[in-house]
Amino acid sequence: MNFSLQGKTYVVMGVANKRSIAWGIARSLHAAGARLIFTYGRERTEKSVKQLAETLETDNSIILQCDVTSDEQIHTCFSKIKEEVGTIHGIAHCVAFANKEELSGEYLNVTREGFLLAQNISAYSLSAIAKEVKNLELMAEGGSFITLSYLGGERVMTNYNVMGVAKASLEASVKYLASNLGKYGIRVNSISAGPIRTLSAKGVSDFNTILKEVEEKSPLRRCTTPEEVGDTAVFLFSDMARGITGENIHVDSGYHVIGY
Ligand code: NAD
Repeated sequence: MNFSLQGKTYVVMGVANKRSIAWGIARSLHAAGARLIFTYGRERTEKSVKQLAETLETDNSIILQCDVTSDEQIHTCFSKIKEEVGTIHGIAHCVAFANKEELSGEYLNVTREGFLLAQNISAYSLSAIAKEVKNLELMAEGGSFITLSYLGGERVMTNYNVMGVAKASLEASVKYLASNLGKYGIRVNSISAGPIRTLSAKGVSDFNTILKEVEEKSPLRRCTTPEEVGDTAVFLFSDMARGITGENIHVDSGYHVIGY
């Protein structure tokens, strides 16, 4: 058993730019020898994903649109992947969205529309994709899903609000999906990442204060990097983690254990 992902194919969803956690995961998977397929949500992101994919040495030329709010796009995207490669071994789901207005102030101000939007993109999408992968028998040799969560799904974190509720839903989905897919040799896990300065994080009000708090209080006294999350993703995708499913691993400098 080792960490090599040589000869295996992974779909990385949610690279927006070089700061994206998905890009950290892509680089770690690439370093472990994996072949990568990228998906992006909006057309305007396509160019940036292509440019980044070209910086990797191997053939990572399959780059497809998959707006996760559309069942049709999910079906078209994964059918195309089936057509191109036949079998995949894992998916890194690094997709989330909530309205900026609902990532500040009190959670009480949440709207029905904003609540459903955050749930749809940030939580339901994992189940929709898992269902499609199962129907298409894309992980015929067994496989593994990872998704990205945050401590705000377990505890009340200032300004995280509607996204915290979506992450709680995502983490519960991980458990139910793990239970359903285990019999097919498919594992489902989440990584609860510490705060990282990305495009999405900019939407969370007063994000700099959260970063400062982690630097000051976390056991490791530093913020999380996309590389740390990426390397944990390699472990979870590898055979070394073959006994782990339905789990939520914190990669947050240990901040989640602090109660003061
Ligand atoms: P990011 O902005 O780089 O990535 C978010 C991605 O979601 C983007 O690529 C965006 O295009 C995609 N997306 C949004 N709506 C979509 C849709 N309808 N269809 C398809 N894709 C869509 O930011 P990030 O911080 O790298 O976020 C990746 C994941 O990590 C998210 O789930 C986020 O909640 C999670 N996370 C982030 C942090 C952090 O501090 N940055 C911490 C813990 C967890």
